[in-house]
Amino acid sequence: MVNFKELRQQLSDEKIKDILIQFNVEAVEETPDAIIFPTCCHNLTGGSPKLYYYKNTQLFHCYTECNESFDIFTLLQKMYRLRGEEISVLQAVQICDLDTAGITPEDHGYSCVEDIQYMQVLNNSIIPEIGKDLKHYDKAIIRKFSFDYMGLMSWIQEGISIEVMQKFNIKYDSYRNMIVIPNFDYDGNLIGVRTRMLNPEDIKKGKYRPLYDNGVLYNHPTGKTFYGIFENHEAIEKKKMAIIFEGEKSVLLYGTIYGVDNNIALATLGQNITRDHIQFLLKMGVINVILAYDTDYEDYKNLKEVERKYVNKANILAPYFNVSILMDYDLIMPYKSSPIDCGREMFEKLLGERRII
Ligand SMILES: [Zn+2]
Repeated sequence: MVNFKELRQQLSDEKIKDILIQFNVEAVEETPDAIIFPTCCHNLTGGSPKLYYYKNTQLFHCYTECNESFDIFTLLQKMYRLRGEEISVLQAVQICDLDTAGITPEDHGYSCVEDIQYMQVLNNSIIPEIGKDLKHYDKAIIRKFSFDYMGLMSWIQEGISIEVMQKFNIKYDSYRNMIVIPNFDYDGNLIGVRTRMLNPEDIKKGKYRPLYDNGVLYNHPTGKTFYGIFENHEAIEKKKMAIIFEGEKSVLLYGTIYGVDNNIALATLGQNITRDHIQFLLKMGVINVILAYDTDYEDYKNLKEVERKYVNKANILAPYFNVSILMDYDLIMPYKSSPIDCGREMFEKLLGERRII
């Protein structure tokens, strides 16, 4: 097997630019660390300047459509495919004017996945700015609601501590009987407020909804951030590890069980893993990710289907992190529970049985 890393290392930054110029792809910007190209990986012409070539690893990363890392050889294959032609890795190496001696048929299935972890470690410091385009709301809205023990009693009874709720600024709206959940960005700006309805007639229209108050809808695109990132990023950066749940309550429960300063939980508020999520995890220097989504299964057949779905989600993260998923293989937990809902012992049992992706 040919060492493709060595082959890549023979290509200077200038040579990379020369190769791409043959396809009319010109660098948009160059920094000491990276060369930024239009996304020729998935566009025949044009494309936004979101294809980064990192000089240290000699790997590309497409931050839009492809949302993945690859080397020049794979990029060339992608570009030819866009033009309706399949080329082998051997042909891609030839296009780069490199010596193809020693490339054997088994090299044709080559992928540079193993190099990507390495890229992640090197490139943590130069991930482009993310999450800066979210709208900021006036934090005064939070003070409009009180920290009302009686109003928050349902969550207290589910085991969420008062200390954690205070840290996360959880409040109660007594007028509309709902729990108020502020969402902050990495830096602590208020980017949205969600509410948990408590009246049965409100719940029928949806348990969780963005706050609507005084003519303002406090909504935000949940895929652009993680719930808990402001409160928990320090602990996550220290441990280089994050546990991703579906809902806010799980983040609060994790902090209750393991301590507010050891809280490494985040929530995607649904089951979507986006490129913004990946970039935030990279920004925090995360190495290990545990996907802890709900038990949306009642029998073994169902479990296998849901497991496949969760593995697919984990695969989105797998090129960048060590990923594992939590499943209740013994079907002990109630339908649609979060893995943290049944307390520490159960959670640690699931953790012990986690499937490594
Ligand atoms: Zn792309």
